[in-house]
Amino acid sequence: MLKGLARWLRAAGYDTVLGPDGTADNDLIARARRENRIFITRDRHLADEHKASEDLVLLDCNEEAACLQELRTRLGVDWLHRPFTRCLRCNTPLVEADPNRWQELPVQSRELATRLLYCPSCDQLFWDGGHVARMRAQLEKANTAPVAVDKHLHDEDPQ
Ligand SMILES: [Zn+2]
Repeated sequence: MLKGLARWLRAAGYDTVLGPDGTADNDLIARARRENRIFITRDRHLADEHKASEDLVLLDCNEEAACLQELRTRLGVDWLHRPFTRCLRCNTPLVEADPNRWQELPVQSRELATRLLYCPSCDQLFWDGGHVARMRAQLEKANTAPVAVDKHLHDEDPQ
């Protein structure tokens, strides 16, 4: 499920790294510290071992929509931070695609979309189709959760 959450955080425009499968917990935590990241886990045992760490968050939620709300309440995540500016797959900031790449889209998408972006790292194209509209509705819904007082996620990637 954290994979799903990572996609949502990227969809909201947050710089989000997913630990590769099989990476040792301590290596992940060390990386998070080094890169000044917040470490999100659902592993209670791991969280207990690192109780002192302010930047380690143990989620209580069990399903995705609840997790999005929990991240907003506890960390101050703004789900409409910079929506759809990062690759959902690899986290790279998206850039405007070359206009002739519109031809690669299905005809119907071409007619409805207004923007075409691509990931310079994995070459995936992104456009504002129905899927994005549905995701945006989810982000808006998640953003209605109250934010705990004094929780404001710093803007970690000025552009
Ligand atoms: Zn990518």
